[in-house]
Amino acid sequence: MRLSRYFLPVLKETPAEAQIVSHRYMLRAGMIKQASAGIYSWLPLGFKVLKKIENIVHEEQQRAGHIPMLMPTLQSADLWRESGRYDGYGEEMLRMKDRHGRDMLYSPTAEEMFTDVFRSYVKSYKDLPLTLYQIQWKFRDEIRPRFGVMRGREFFMKDGYNFDLTKEDALHAYNRHLVSYLRTYERMGLQAIPMRADSGPIGGDYTHEFLVLADTGESEVFYDSKVTDISLGKRDIDFDDVAQCQAVMDEFTSLYARTDETHVEAEFNEVPEDRRRVARGIEVGQIFYFGTTYSDKMGATVVNDQGDHVPVHMGSHGIGVSRLLGAIIEASHDDKGIIWPEGVTPFHCGIINLRQGDDAADAACESLYSALIAAGLEPLYDDRNERAGGKFATMDLIGLPWRITVGPRGLKNGVVELTSRKTGESVEMPPEQAAAKVV
Ligand code: ATP
Ligand code: MG
Ligand code: MG
Ligand code: MG
Repeated sequence: MRLSRYFLPVLKETPAEAQIVSHRYMLRAGMIKQASAGIYSWLPLGFKVLKKIENIVHEEQQRAGHIPMLMPTLQSADLWRESGRYDGYGEEMLRMKDRHGRDMLYSPTAEEMFTDVFRSYVKSYKDLPLTLYQIQWKFRDEIRPRFGVMRGREFFMKDGYNFDLTKEDALHAYNRHLVSYLRTYERMGLQAIPMRADSGPIGGDYTHEFLVLADTGESEVFYDSKVTDISLGKRDIDFDDVAQCQAVMDEFTSLYARTDETHVEAEFNEVPEDRRRVARGIEVGQIFYFGTTYSDKMGATVVNDQGDHVPVHMGSHGIGVSRLLGAIIEASHDDKGIIWPEGVTPFHCGIINLRQGDDAADAACESLYSALIAAGLEPLYDDRNERAGGKFATMDLIGLPWRITVGPRGLKNGVVELTSRKTGESVEMPPEQAAAKVV
C-alpha cells in the first residue's frame, strides 16, 4: 500500500475523551471512529488488524476441530423465553419489536440459537462430539461503555458451543478450548493467563477466564507469579488426545490464579509470599462447562447406545475479538505509539522515503516495495511529499515492526537504514539485505 493512496486519518491532538492508552492510540492512528456511545466505525487500519485477529482465531479453532458457521445478530425472543433468559438477562439485552409487534433482540451471546440448531438436526450419539462456533457481532447495552473497543456496546466476539454425550467428553472439550485459546493468544504476542472465575448468569461449576495483565484492566486478579513463566510455545498438540489436553490444563491451572470473585485469602496465603501478586487484568476470553442446563430446558437430546434419550452436555467458550485490539495495545506500546506484534501487525514493514522526488531515493523505494510484495509481505510505503519528522511520527504511531528509511545520503554509500520498532535499534545496510531481514 502506498500511503498517498491509503485512507489513514491520523490525529495530531490527543482526543480528550480517551482515558487509556489503547483508546488514545486507536483514535490517533485512525483505526476507529466513535459512531455513538460504545459503537465504532472500523476505519481501514483498525479493520485490517481486526481481520488479522479474526483469522488467527479461525485458524486455531479449526485446528482444534471446531466448525465455523454464522448466526443472525437479530433473534426472536421466543427461543430466549424457552431458556428463561429473556426475562432474566436484564438491561444489557437490546430489545426491539418488528412491524408485526413481535419481540426481537440483538444477540448478546448465542447459547439458545446454537442449542436450537443442534436439536433440530442431531439425534444420535453417533454424531457427537460436535463443536460449532461463530465470529459475529454482539450487542450488550453496557451501563458504562468505555475505554474504546475494550468495553463497547457493539463488539466482535468468537463464541463456540460444544455438544457431548457425557460430562467426561464435555470436559475434554473444555480442555481443548483452553489449549486452543492459549495458542491463539500466544500467536498474537499476548500472555493471557487462565484464571478460575465466576460463572455468572450462564451458570455451571467449571469456568476459567483468560486475563492479560495490565494496570488499566477492569478485573482484580490474584496469582502466583510462577504462572507467568509458563507458555505453550511450539508444542505439537493432538487435540483428540484426552490425556495431552488434560496435562496442559493441569499445568496451566494448578498454580493459584483467580479473579476477585473466586479469590480465597486463606488459599492465596499458601503461595510463598515473594510470589504472591495482586494486580489488574483484561478479560480477553472465557470458557464454561455448564452440563445440561440448556439442553434440559430446550430439549436438546440424543439417543445413546442403549436407545435412551439423554440431554447433551454442553459448554460455551468466548473470545473478545474486538477487545483484543485494545488488550494488545495496552500490553505493547511506548510513548510514541503502538508496537504491533508480528502476528497481528496491519502491515509488515514501513518504507520511508526521506526525499520524495529524488530519482535515486524514489527508485530505491520502488524496488524495495516490489521486492517485499514479491516475498508475500505487505509493506506500507510512505511516498507522501512530507517532512521526514512527520513521516517518522506517523510510522511510530501506527507501530509496524520494521521501518526501512531511504534517503539520498545513505544511498550514495549504498545503504538504507533498518529500524526495529520494538528495540528502536537502527542498522545501516544495503537495500537487498534490509528486505531480506524483514522477510
Ligand atoms: P466483562 O466481564 O468484561 O463484562 P463478560 O464476562 O461479560 O465480560 P463474556 O460473556 O465472557 O463477557 O464474553 C466473552 C468475551 O467477550 C469476554 O471475555 C470479553 O473478552 C468479550 N467482551 C464481553 N463484553 C464485551 C464488551 N462490552 N466489549 C468488548 N468485548 C467484550
Ligand atoms: Mg459483561
Ligand atoms: Mg467477565
Ligand atoms: Mg466473561
